[in-house]
Formats: sequence, structure tokens, C-alpha cells
Amino acid sequence: MFIISSKNVLLDAQKRNYAVPAFNIHNLETTQVVVETANEMKSPVILAATPGTIKFAGEKYLINIMKVAAEIAEVPIIFHLDHHEDVEAIKSAILLGAKSVMIDASALPYEENIKKVKEVVKFAKRYDVSVEAELGKLVGQEDDIVVGEKDSQMTDPNLANDFVKRTGIDSLAVAIGTAHGLYKSEPKIDYDRLEKIKEKVDVPLVLHGASGVPDEIVRRTIELGICKVNVATELKIAFSEGVKNHFKNNPEANDPRKYLTPGKEKMKEVVRDKILLCNSNDKA
Ligand SMILES: [Zn+2]
Repeated sequence: MFIISSKNVLLDAQKRNYAVPAFNIHNLETTQVVVETANEMKSPVILAATPGTIKFAGEKYLINIMKVAAEIAEVPIIFHLDHHEDVEAIKSAILLGAKSVMIDASALPYEENIKKVKEVVKFAKRYDVSVEAELGKLVGQEDDIVVGEKDSQMTDPNLANDFVKRTGIDSLAVAIGTAHGLYKSEPKIDYDRLEKIKEKVDVPLVLHGASGVPDEIVRRTIELGICKVNVATELKIAFSEGVKNHFKNNPEANDPRKYLTPGKEKMKEVVRDKILLCNSNDKA
């Protein structure tokens, strides 16, 4: 297998009413967990990296890890640039082999958002790369992007249709009440808004900030048209818990091969649960 774009995988999810989970990875170990689990469960998966992750792991290291993952895996591997704001960084990653990108210009005024997204779409199409963009703004923090309560904004269904048509994007990230990071109380999802967006927009819809959202809520959003569910925070928590537990029981531990393994095991449980939640198992 090789690295593919997310376009056809998300269209299949839309047609068969499941969602493809997008897992934020940071290094070799976290990538291995996602790929291994996806293989076992025959699930299509998206491996997502924010600009912070690319800076941390190194663009070339990361893309080559993905190439090897795709070579080994029996399921399609999608490497996705999550929440990228820098057009030049996107172009650079595409030239190295990335096939799926999110251009996040949601902080800009509407017309400027469209202009920036169109620029990325134009470049991406030349390389058969799929593009996700966001309309509306999720509250919380993702990487270096921080959105306060008063600056957050739900997606306007009428604008969503105009936005998709004019930009030519392949999938749309919607703001319907989820948040990046952890929730202080149960999120209130605007299902009516999601239904209206779904009526007006024909490209697959993406749910960001799904960490910590109760399963029944995520399931309902998938029924209503969400085709990609992003999970980041919950994976980090699980991985760290595994490592922390190991040090608690073995304060003298110093071998990364020993203390990273329980982190991977804990993270794997979350990946498995999310694949089942998205109902993407046996779809690859
Ligand atoms: Zn996000």
C-alpha cells in the first residue's frame, strides 16, 4: 500500500454512513500504535500531524515514517496535515509526499478565508491531494492556535454551502459545539445546525475536538453526516498514563523500550475504542 489522499475514503464513509477516525500522532511509537490497530481491525485511518508535531519530529522523518507505515500496512494509510495555517509549509509537505491537508484559515475574515483556501486547493489538485478547511471557530487550544469563548463561532449553514462551492474543498470542518482540548462540562452539540449544514453541503463533514465527547453524542453526529472524527487529547492522556504508571511501579526505570511500551498499550485501547465508535472496522 502507499500513502493516499483522504478524498475517496471519506466519500466511502459518507456513502456507508460511518466515520474515519483521524488520530494525532507525534513520533514513530504513536504511529505504530495506530497502524497496528488499524491493520488488526481492518479500518481505514488518518494519521494527523499538526505544525507543532512536524516541528517536533522533523518533516522528513515524519513523512518517511508514514511511507514505511503505508508499505507495511494492509489498510490504506492517510497522512494528514492537521490545522496548518502556513501555505508554504503545506506546499513543502505535499512535495515530500503528503496527500491530505487541512488549511485552517478560520481565524481570518470570511473572504480572506476563501482566498487562502483556494490557493491551497489550486496547488493541492495538481498533486491529487485532498483539502479540508474550516468554517466557524472551535473554542479551545490546538497546537499554538488558541480560541477564547467570545471568539468562538458556530458554522453558518448558508455560508457553508457558499464556502464549499467557491473553494472547491473536499471536506469541511464544522463548529457545532465541540472544543479542542478537555471539556469542563458535557459539550452541547447543535444537532439542528449539523442537519442544516448536511442538507446544504455535499462534501464529507469533519468533527474536531472529539476527545472527551460522550460516545452517544459522537454516534449521533455520525448518523447526521459526520464522516471524519478527530481524536488527539485522549490519545496523549492514555499514552502518558501508561508511561507514568510504569515509572510509579519502577522508579529506577531508564530504558525507553521498557517505559514506552506501556504507553503504547494504553494508547492502543483508545484507538481501538474510537475505531469501534466510528464503526470504521472492517471497512478497509
Ligand atoms: Zn482540530
